[in-house]
Amino acid sequence: MDSELELNEKESTQMTTDNTQPTDFIRERIEEDIRTGRFGGRVHTRFPPEPNGYLHIGHAKAICIDFGIAEQYGGLCNLRMDDTNPMKESTEYVEAIQRDVRWLGFDWGDRLFYASDYYDQLYAFAEELIKKGKAYVDDLSAEEIREYRGTLTEPGRNSPYRDRSVEENLDLFRRMRDGEFEEGSRVLRAKIDMASPNIVLRDPVLYRILKMPHYRTGDKWCIYPMYDFTHCISDSLEGITHSLCTLEFENNRALYDWILDALELYHPQQIEFARLELNYTLTSKRKLLQLVREGHVRGWDDPRMPTLSGLRRRGVTPESIRNFVDAVGVSKANSTVDLSLLEHFIRDDLNRRAPRVMGVLRPLKLVIDNYPEDQVEWMEAVNNPEDPEAGTRQVPFSRVLYIEQEDFMENPPKKFFRLAPGREVRLRYAYFVTCTHVVKDPQTGEIVELHCTYDPATRGGDAPDGRKVKATLHWVSASHALDAEVRLYDRLFSAEDPNDAPEGQDFRANLNPDSLETLTGCKVEPSLGDKEVGYFCQFERLGYFCVDPDSVPGNLVFNRTITLRDTWAKIQAGQ
Ligand code: ATP
Ligand code: MG
Repeated sequence: MDSELELNEKESTQMTTDNTQPTDFIRERIEEDIRTGRFGGRVHTRFPPEPNGYLHIGHAKAICIDFGIAEQYGGLCNLRMDDTNPMKESTEYVEAIQRDVRWLGFDWGDRLFYASDYYDQLYAFAEELIKKGKAYVDDLSAEEIREYRGTLTEPGRNSPYRDRSVEENLDLFRRMRDGEFEEGSRVLRAKIDMASPNIVLRDPVLYRILKMPHYRTGDKWCIYPMYDFTHCISDSLEGITHSLCTLEFENNRALYDWILDALELYHPQQIEFARLELNYTLTSKRKLLQLVREGHVRGWDDPRMPTLSGLRRRGVTPESIRNFVDAVGVSKANSTVDLSLLEHFIRDDLNRRAPRVMGVLRPLKLVIDNYPEDQVEWMEAVNNPEDPEAGTRQVPFSRVLYIEQEDFMENPPKKFFRLAPGREVRLRYAYFVTCTHVVKDPQTGEIVELHCTYDPATRGGDAPDGRKVKATLHWVSASHALDAEVRLYDRLFSAEDPNDAPEGQDFRANLNPDSLETLTGCKVEPSLGDKEVGYFCQFERLGYFCVDPDSVPGNLVFNRTITLRDTWAKIQAGQ
């Protein structure tokens, strides 16, 4: 599997250095630039999201690389909203982006920038290109431009408007800016080479007419700069040294360089790395937006979404995401990482930090007939066996309890070791109990109540005579338990590649219809009553859970972050 290869690669590079940070081709180049004094020894990166959606797990990789590298070399990293498309951008997204980058643990200081703040400068640079004879206004339609562009095997053809005079171009461009022409009737193009083997260099469009207000500049502009023109100049204006981006921009690097050279501007170095892709997961903002708009999920922060806000709501910690991104490493070849690797890092972090509590998802009443009616004992329970500092807490025990329905079988098969008629088991932190009989609903035959006896000598969970039981069950005291709703999540897509849909259908055909199961009537121990939104814990034997923002006193709502079974560790062990 690709992801395993990447892990091995990373391990081997780690072993060849005595540095604590893993090294990779980007860091090698940066260290080289520091050695040669190329940027005066400076390291200044930027993370440039377009505020047209929420950040996702793929962005987390870019964030960790951009901010992480700056941090490592004592440099700076800017946060820049790459907002040149008025059609899709909004303040909601700008705010969400900042929240998510901060949550991941990174800080841009006072260096939050907006490409839209450079519109005046960008416009002036465009006029400068025209004056240098390096840009022209083209009247071809979008379709004609595409036609003239040629293909990978055939060169393009020059537009009939390519040789307009500087004066005519300046005049037309100014009139474009002043709103004289219709959308789509004219564009500004760089004059490079229609026969270039790199299609990106075949006179790319630099400006287009869009008669649409922008969420920040309002009605000031009706022409908007294209990404390629904006990005390199923004990097240059901010004094970026290393402009790190994903591989799909590899061919655009030539244009990045051409524009800055043509304008004789300070010139950062663009370096590309592989995108992070996960199986069972989509990382296209456009498609994620579609899921939100069409109501397939409850919003951008639905816990099933691969967005950072969804992962946060689900109970995933920023530490586990950073550990995951580190483990995947920086590579130059695109690959798909196994989702179970991310899940492994989520469990790994929660296992270390999550307090253990008891909660029952599908309650079955258990009555201890020989236990005094009104007695309550407070049992000492370990908060986290992985963390001795976490201490203990007191859990109430009484005559009527709830256990998990699936922990009892009236007619157990051979390998079922939990509770059954006549059988003795341990109740965690409490006593041994033996099931004496069951009570059934006379109409449905369904088991509604178990009756047991307990052995007072086994308090704390051990028998003084040394007798053993084969199972330890979690439980809650019925009169003390709090009601809760618990939301169980499964993968949002059932196909490994969500885009691999049957003929005539799209990724939506691969949505997993069982990705959300809501359980009501769950019972949790009383210590959970005052926990804040986002509080995470392990429900013993069941998985990791966290308090959802929908939670209110009297009706607690928990999300299951993840089960306890580590499929990645299993894959590794099986090798
Ligand atoms: P689009 O441009 O289609 O809206 P995008 O995913 O490229 O989507 P941007 O907001 O442009 O979104 O991304 C910001 C930065 O994050 C870019 O530098 C981009 O290269 C990087 N990035 C985006 N997706 C991934 C990914 N899956 N893995 C790693 N980096 C990514
Ligand atoms: Mg992009």
